[in-house]
Amino acid sequence: METQADAQIRQSSFDHNSLLSQALLRTVADLVFQIDRQGFFRNYQATDKTHLAASPENFLNRSVSEVFPSNFAQNILSKIDACIDNDKVIQFEYEMELATGSIGTFEAQFCKIDNQNALVIIRNTTLYKKATQALLESEEKFRHMVNDAPALIWIADEQNRGTWFNQTWLQYTGHTLEHELGNRWTQSIHPHDRETAATACQSAFDLRESFEIEFRLKRADGNYGWIADTGIPRFSESGRFIGYIGYCWDITDRKQAQLQIELDQQYLKNLDTVSRILASTENLDQVLENAMCAILDIFNVDRAWLLYPCDPNVKTWRIPIEATRPDFPGAFADGAEFPMTEDVKQIVVDALASDMPVIHQFVSELIPDLSNQYQVKTQMIIAVRPREDAAWMMGVHVCANTRTWIYSEKRLFQEIANRITDTLSNRLLTQKLEREIEIRKNTEEELIIAKEIAESASRAKSEFLSRMSHELRTPMNAILGFAQILSIKNKDALQHEHINEILDAGKHLLELINEVLDLSKVESGKIKINYTVVDIRKLLGDCQRLIQPLADSHQVNLQIDDFDAYLIVADEIRLKQVLLNLISNAVKYNRKHGLVSLSCKPEQHFLRVEVTDNGIGISKDKQSDIFTLFERLGAEKTQIEGTGIGLAICKELIELMHGDIGFHSKVDKGTVFWIRIPLHQKA
Ligand code: ADP
Repeated sequence: METQADAQIRQSSFDHNSLLSQALLRTVADLVFQIDRQGFFRNYQATDKTHLAASPENFLNRSVSEVFPSNFAQNILSKIDACIDNDKVIQFEYEMELATGSIGTFEAQFCKIDNQNALVIIRNTTLYKKATQALLESEEKFRHMVNDAPALIWIADEQNRGTWFNQTWLQYTGHTLEHELGNRWTQSIHPHDRETAATACQSAFDLRESFEIEFRLKRADGNYGWIADTGIPRFSESGRFIGYIGYCWDITDRKQAQLQIELDQQYLKNLDTVSRILASTENLDQVLENAMCAILDIFNVDRAWLLYPCDPNVKTWRIPIEATRPDFPGAFADGAEFPMTEDVKQIVVDALASDMPVIHQFVSELIPDLSNQYQVKTQMIIAVRPREDAAWMMGVHVCANTRTWIYSEKRLFQEIANRITDTLSNRLLTQKLEREIEIRKNTEEELIIAKEIAESASRAKSEFLSRMSHELRTPMNAILGFAQILSIKNKDALQHEHINEILDAGKHLLELINEVLDLSKVESGKIKINYTVVDIRKLLGDCQRLIQPLADSHQVNLQIDDFDAYLIVADEIRLKQVLLNLISNAVKYNRKHGLVSLSCKPEQHFLRVEVTDNGIGISKDKQSDIFTLFERLGAEKTQIEGTGIGLAICKELIELMHGDIGFHSKVDKGTVFWIRIPLHQKA
């Protein structure tokens, strides 16, 4: 029998359990129903009624079939049966329109109370569902963003192992996510960069610091691309280190541009080095040797040389200039001549056929002898074609290993060959010019000596003529003087005639002597020109008076044409001498009743004086000799007196007075002699 105390204890224990259950239910559920097997709501407890479709007290003692549409009611009844029959908690999720009009999501749990009753615990999960959905959507968005980002993104855990790589990464490397996980992705790093990248990454990792590294990563197409990788450490909210997140950019273009700039700079530096050497003032051999030494370093080869001549048709060739590494001594002794064998001929032909460097990748196949003897594995050659010489050949040998040449190296080699060509052209041209100058200098010196000899001979001749004339004049005067006395005193007709012959011949001889004396004075430069302003009309008048007797004796009419008065600048005596010579010639080489006329006309700054005759004229073939000394053009065979000196003196004198002299003539028609003398410029 249960005592009252027991009943009290049981009651108090029941009360306690009931309170506990209620408290528990309040914390987990918004609504608790007790529903019997028939579907009648028997009891309820509502923590928050705001989210419910209807107030729970409306359901009390009503059946689910009355409250809900039949389908839903059937569903609930089946859940109640299932939980009571199986004594299991049955879960059920559903949606229902809320009092507010919006659709709410609910989660119900059916739990057996006894064979007739079930407990239904309901939670409004609308907000939770929404939040979960939002989270999922945001995660999806983030995933999309990260996957589609142009950067290669990765995540690593606290052990620095790759745990996630975005789609961009996977597309770049052409690998699956599984393939990249852990440290396997590092296999795609270029072997040369792997260690540097790993070290930089590890030291940043040890310090939990962010890092930036550059390395080459193998792309899906098998080529390597340059990557700039930035890693940033990640920490949990509580500050615990949880790994890294990183993003990478493909910087291949930038790297290539940078590489190109570096290559270009190196190219220019190397070219500058060689250019400076070539521009030095040392002798040509030294300059070329220095250039070959520079090439040895620039191209990191074992031998650099110049071959001469680069001509397949010669019998021998040599290597005049060569620079070598100690391990691979000179292939060719200085100055030694080598036969132009078929092998070498082929190389020479190859070089001459191209403007670009020619590469013999495997010399052993091409010229086995050369390759064996001098250990040449690979060579690069180019023809050097100076303007003033046969072609040369420039070449480099690689002996330690075979070598592949990149384009910029070939371009540099070609440019250096161009510079060497210029240097050779200039230097050889200079050498040639120097030789020519030397020869010309010697010739000039010889000419100067010859001229001096000729001048001194001429001076000696003039001196001789001058002296001789003086010496001859004195006895001549005595001969003439005594002959004249004899002529006056002697009455014998025959003797008188003979004496007159002596006198005529003597006068002619004296005239000849005087003219020779005159000429020698002109030639030796002893004549001094005394310039005065001369009135030409007056001067011609004087000449006419002096010549008139001669004209009369030749029965030649002598006249002066009308012209204005002109003043000229000349040595009056010398000019008169010239005019008298021209006029007397015009009279002498005239015919009976011939005419001699004197005329003047200005011509720019000169006065042109013409002596015109209609005498015998001068034939064309003799005209070029008219001013030649002692040349009488056949007149020596005639009775006309003369020496052949007058016109030669006239020309010298006129030129001394800054004028000129000329003539034109026709046989049997006559001759015009003209002179031009500077006009006096009135102030
Ligand atoms: P020459 O003393 O013989 O006259 P010139 O030197 O004065 O010497 O003249 C050279 C030659 O030119 C003359 O011998 C003559 O044959 C020719 N000659 C000069 N003037 C005339 C002229 N007016 N007409 C024809 N022949 C002339």
